[in-house]
Amino acid sequence: VIEIGQPEHSVVTTCAYCGVGCSFKAEMRGEEVVRMVPWKDGKANRGHSCVKGRFAWGYATHQDRILNPMVREKITDPWREVSWDEAFAHVAKEFRRLQFQYGKGSIGGITSSRCTNEETFLVQKLVRAGFGNNNVDTCARVCHSPTGYGLGKAFGTSAGTQDFDSVEHTDVVILIGANPTDGHPVFASRLKKRLRAGAKLIVIDPRRIDLVRSAHVEASHHLPLRPGTNVAVLTALAHVIVTEGLFDEAFIRERCDWSEFEDWASFVADPAHSPEATEVYTGVPAEELRGAARLYARGGNGAIYYGLGVTEHSQGSTTVMAIANLAMATGNIGRPGVGVNPLRGQNNVQGACDMGSFPHELPGYRHISGTEVRDVFEKLWGVELNPEPGLRIPNMLDAAVDGTFRGIYIQGEDILQSDPDTKHVKAGLEAMECVVVHDLFLNETANYAHVFLPGSTFLEKDGTFTNAERRINRVRRVMSPKNGLADWEVTLKLAQAMGLDWSYAHPSEIMDEIAATTPSFASVTYQMLEEKGSVQWPCNEAKPDGTPVMHLDGFVRGKGKFIRTEYVATDERTGPRFPLLLTTGRILSQYNVGAQTRRTENVAWHGEDRLEIHPHDAEQRGIHQDDWVKLASRSGETALRATITERVAPGVVYTTFHHPGTQANVITTDFTDWATNCPEYKVTAVQVSPSNGP
Ligand code: SF4
Repeated sequence: VIEIGQPEHSVVTTCAYCGVGCSFKAEMRGEEVVRMVPWKDGKANRGHSCVKGRFAWGYATHQDRILNPMVREKITDPWREVSWDEAFAHVAKEFRRLQFQYGKGSIGGITSSRCTNEETFLVQKLVRAGFGNNNVDTCARVCHSPTGYGLGKAFGTSAGTQDFDSVEHTDVVILIGANPTDGHPVFASRLKKRLRAGAKLIVIDPRRIDLVRSAHVEASHHLPLRPGTNVAVLTALAHVIVTEGLFDEAFIRERCDWSEFEDWASFVADPAHSPEATEVYTGVPAEELRGAARLYARGGNGAIYYGLGVTEHSQGSTTVMAIANLAMATGNIGRPGVGVNPLRGQNNVQGACDMGSFPHELPGYRHISGTEVRDVFEKLWGVELNPEPGLRIPNMLDAAVDGTFRGIYIQGEDILQSDPDTKHVKAGLEAMECVVVHDLFLNETANYAHVFLPGSTFLEKDGTFTNAERRINRVRRVMSPKNGLADWEVTLKLAQAMGLDWSYAHPSEIMDEIAATTPSFASVTYQMLEEKGSVQWPCNEAKPDGTPVMHLDGFVRGKGKFIRTEYVATDERTGPRFPLLLTTGRILSQYNVGAQTRRTENVAWHGEDRLEIHPHDAEQRGIHQDDWVKLASRSGETALRATITERVAPGVVYTTFHHPGTQANVITTDFTDWATNCPEYKVTAVQVSPSNGP
C-alpha cells in the first residue's frame, strides 16, 4: 500500500511530454506533487491522459538533477560549483572574448522544444540582439523542419491546419509515418473513437502498427511500403486521383492556381507513376494503392495525419509537399474534418518554431531578410539586426571543426544523443572553446561542456506551450525552482551579464513582447488565456477567438501551390553486406532519449530497446526470440535483444531509441533532407547477426 498524502491545493498546467498538450491539475501538498489529474476542461485532452503525463513527473525531484551552476576550464577538468553570478560573468566574458578573437559569427545558440514559448523567444532574441548574428536553431532541425518548409511552400504557413476536435468530423483518415498509439496516445484515443463510429482508416507505414488491427479497429488499407519510398507511394495515389478524375475541380479552380495544378496533374499522370509501376520498388500491391486513393478521394471528409516517418527522410520536405498536393487535389482542406495535420513530437516544438528558432526566420515565420519585419524588432530591441540567415546546427558543427565557430549556448537539448553522426557532433563540440549546456541533468552533451547551467522543469515555471493544433496552453508554476531560477530567468540574467538592457518581471511581459511583434499572436495575453483557457493562433484583430481550422476562405499565401514531387531514391542502399532496412519509432511509456521517463520512480516501466525482426529473416540468421543480436550499419554497430514478429515485413527491422546504451544514432546515416538538413533517421541499411550481448 502506497501512502499518499492528501492534496492541499491544485494548479492547472500543461503536460511537458508530447505535442498533444494535455491539461492537468497538479494536486499539491506544499511544494510536493501528490498526483497529476487530467483536467476535464483541457481542450486538447478533455479529461484524458496517457501514462507519461499522469505518472512520469518524478524526474523533477530526481537525485540526478544538478542544482548549482558549474564551470571548468577544460573538458577533462573536474567541475567546480560556482554562484549564478559567477557563472553568468564567466559565460559573458568568454563569449565576448570569442567574438573579439574570431568575429561576431563565431558563437550561437540552440533553443529547446521542451521549454516555453517565452523561453525560446528569449534565446533567439539573445542570439540576434546580443550575439549580433542569426546562428540560432532548434531540435526541430532533426524532426519537423520539413513540415515547416513543405507546408510553408504549399499553404504559406508552417503549421497543421486543424484542431483535434476536427477528427470528430472525419470520414477517412490517412495515417502516414506516425504511430499515435505510442507517440500521441490521447489523440490516438480520439481517433479510435471516431474509427469505431465508422470512419475509415488508411495506414501507410512499413510496420504493422497497432491501429492496423486492434480491438474494434481495423484499417481498410495498410500500405506496408519499403522504408524511404513515401514520395513514390503518395505520387501513385495522386496518379489514381488524377487519371480516374477523382479530383475536386471546383475547389482547385477557386483556391489554387489552375495552371500549376495542370502541370502537376500531367506529372503524376505519367505511367511511370501508376500503381503497377510503383509496386515494383515500394512493395505496395497496386490494388491497395488504387483502393486507398479511391477511398481518400471519394470517402467524404478526408484528413491526413503524419509524423516523423514522413519528415526524417532525405525527401522529408518533398513528402510534406506531396501530402499537401493530395489534400488540395481532393478539396480536403479548409473545413472541419479534413486537412493536413503533423503530429508534433515534443511538447513545444510547434512553439519553438513559431518563436523564430530558425537561422532564417524571425518569430511568426518571417524571413530575416525582410526589411519591414526586421524594422519592427529593431525599433523595439534598439539594435540593428543582421539580415543574413545564420548557421543551422549541422553548419555550426562543421564551422566548429573548421575553426570558425567557437562557442555555443545549448538550452534543453542533448545534441550528442539526438543529432545524427555522433562522431561529427563530438568533433564539433570538442573543437569549441566555450560550450554552455543549460539542462536538468548532466546529459551526454555536457561531457563536452565548459559551463553547466542548471535547468528547471515545467513544474517550476510560468509560461506557455503551443501544441500540435497551434493551441497556446498555459504552463503554471506549481513549485519553486529547485535550482533557484526558472529557465527564462537564466537567459535574462545571461543577457544582462552580456550588457543587454533587458528587464522582465514575469513571462507574461515576454508574451506581451511576442504579441507586439508577431501578428499571429497579436491578441494573445495571459489575461486572455486565463479567461479562455487556451487559444489557437492566429489570434489577432481578425481572429479574436483564435483559429481552430485554418485556410477556411483562402490560403495564407493566397493560392494553394501544387508542386511537382519527383521521387528520388535515398543514397542509402542495401547490398550483400547490409541487406536489411532499419527504421525507428517509440514506445508508449518512454519518451525520446528517456532523460525524464527513465528518471521517474512512479511506475516500473523502464524496459529496454529491442530489435523487431521478421521470422523469415531471423531463421535465416539463426536468431531466436530474446537472443542478443549485433545490429551493424556502415556507420557503426550496437547490440540489442531480438523480438521476432510479423509486425515488420521481411527485409525490414525496427527499433526504438529510448536508452542511451542503444546508441541508435551511431547506426544511422548522415544523409539529410535536401531542403532542411533534417536527418534521414528512418532508413538505414543494416546487417543483423547473433551476438553474445553488449
Ligand atoms: Fe502528455 Fe502527450 Fe500523454 Fe497527453 S498524450 S498526457 S500530452 S504525453
